[in-house]
Amino acid sequence: MTNRDNLRQLLLQLDDRGYKAYMDIKGSYKFPDFNLVIDRVQGDPFASPSQVRVQLPHSVAGFPASLYQTPSRDIALRDYLTRQFDHASRDLSSRRGTGNSGLIAITLVGQSVLGRTSVLITDKFIEVRFVVGLPARGRRISGRQAAEMLCDDIPQIVNDAIKYKSLNATAIKQHVETVEDADWLRQQLAEKGLVAFIPDGAILPRSSGVDDRPLLKDAIPFKSPEELRVEFTCPNRGVVKGMGIPSGVTLIVGGGYHGKSTLLRAIELGVYNHIPGDGRELVVTHVSAVKIRAEDGRSIASVDISPFINQLPQGRSTRQFSTPNASGSTSQAANIIEALEAGAKVLLVDEDTAATNFMIRDRRMQQLIAKDKEPITPFIDKVRQLYTDYGVSTILVMGGSGDYFDVADTVIAMENFEPQEVSEKAKVIAEQHRTERISEGGKEFGQITPRIPLAESIDPSRGHREVKLKVRDVDEVVFGTEEIDLAAVEQIAEKGQLRAIAQAIVYGKRQYINGRYTLPEVLNRIMADIESKGLDILTNFPEGDLVIFRRFELAAALNRLRTLKVK
Ligand code: ADP
Ligand code: MG
Repeated sequence: MTNRDNLRQLLLQLDDRGYKAYMDIKGSYKFPDFNLVIDRVQGDPFASPSQVRVQLPHSVAGFPASLYQTPSRDIALRDYLTRQFDHASRDLSSRRGTGNSGLIAITLVGQSVLGRTSVLITDKFIEVRFVVGLPARGRRISGRQAAEMLCDDIPQIVNDAIKYKSLNATAIKQHVETVEDADWLRQQLAEKGLVAFIPDGAILPRSSGVDDRPLLKDAIPFKSPEELRVEFTCPNRGVVKGMGIPSGVTLIVGGGYHGKSTLLRAIELGVYNHIPGDGRELVVTHVSAVKIRAEDGRSIASVDISPFINQLPQGRSTRQFSTPNASGSTSQAANIIEALEAGAKVLLVDEDTAATNFMIRDRRMQQLIAKDKEPITPFIDKVRQLYTDYGVSTILVMGGSGDYFDVADTVIAMENFEPQEVSEKAKVIAEQHRTERISEGGKEFGQITPRIPLAESIDPSRGHREVKLKVRDVDEVVFGTEEIDLAAVEQIAEKGQLRAIAQAIVYGKRQYINGRYTLPEVLNRIMADIESKGLDILTNFPEGDLVIFRRFELAAALNRLRTLKVK
């Protein structure tokens, strides 16, 4: 194997040559502390930057094994090191010419702690994957600068970010222990009959609508109402108290601007762990909780929405309902049925993003518009059946209709950002002021029949390229010639999740989508493969920007592929 000095020599020789000559540096180099592997070299200074890995033996990295020897800790430490590398590389990388010359960057992270391919810990070493913008003047190689970047800057960054002795041991411990506690708490929920937990002292509001960091000024810390207070003894933090949301149907009510949506948003993202200092680091939610909303304009492929919608105008069937352009109510119905098909056990709904006619049909409207003239059976008539027939709980923000008092097990009122337990009060009111509604839609929820996706309807190719995937921000994937719009899939936390999801669809098509397996079977198999072999099975190259995702978001992407056909 060639060493660092050979690489430096080579880069100096390449100085001023045409950019393509950089291809010569592909390969592995033995540095004093680690191996540097250059996997992919960019074709020009403006192309996506070159992919590089560093493998640092444990003897050099020096992390105590206790910091990474359980699955929770492994993910947490890898996340921590990703963030450290990010800081160190931002400090050191600088513009050094045309295009992305001079860039040294690891995958972008947010507030969540997630399994990522940016840092891996094996028996032997810690591997860090990142990109380097090989420097150019115009389209000529800047050999000296490339030598500085690869042979000096990278060792410096690795030294500052990936060695235990350079880092803050207390902060690492806190990171790892916080994630471990959150995982532990999430596992305890079922035993206590809960679907979500929000600890006292949590900071739920965010800095702004476009900034997911905590609101620092004037944020009112969460305080649980006595009636819903539960207590846990976490492995690291010890006793933690807070509000437990029981399974069943839970209503969150309260005046406008009193913190209802903020609470629900924290619950939505409680399926993931968060970094210490986020404010929501011990907010935990059942792993299969899915946010449901209206999403008019989305496409739907043969979904049986008949539990909610029947007898459409023009006699269109709703047992296999397809449309390239769903309405608010049909999209919300499809979102629910698809979530159930994928295995959701908790549904999260906010009136702010729900279709009103899907949520409620009151006595007066029932009187004016006869049932045979209204295709929609409102959610209010189905929400209990979901729980009794399928064990699916719902947490619903609903400040606008007291009709739901009749179907709720638990009612929480938000008042000045503080929750109050008002279930009894709501029951009494429901007795005193009867709605006289006639329940609609029958005694049972209805069948959920898994669909079988057809491989030929899923085509990631474009022109001569077999696979063409592109991710634009966190809400759009270009899949072959198709765009998948995921703006309404609110539990995607990072762009890297979308990259992985796009790859997983390609992988699923190759391996399991064969006209025999149902969608849930396909999801099971893909997720099991990733669980046992890691995200790397999704790609040919070792990529550094894949992030773990849930089966629900994978299903959501597939369901929004406009070419999708099913049996
Ligand atoms: P609602 O859904 O009840 O209308 P929101 O959850 O949208 O209310 O909250 C309204 C505003 O109050 C938002 O700007 C939000 O960031 C802020 N907010 C929410 N919770 C808190 C809190 N605990 N402390 C301070 N501000 C908060
Ligand atoms: Mg709201």
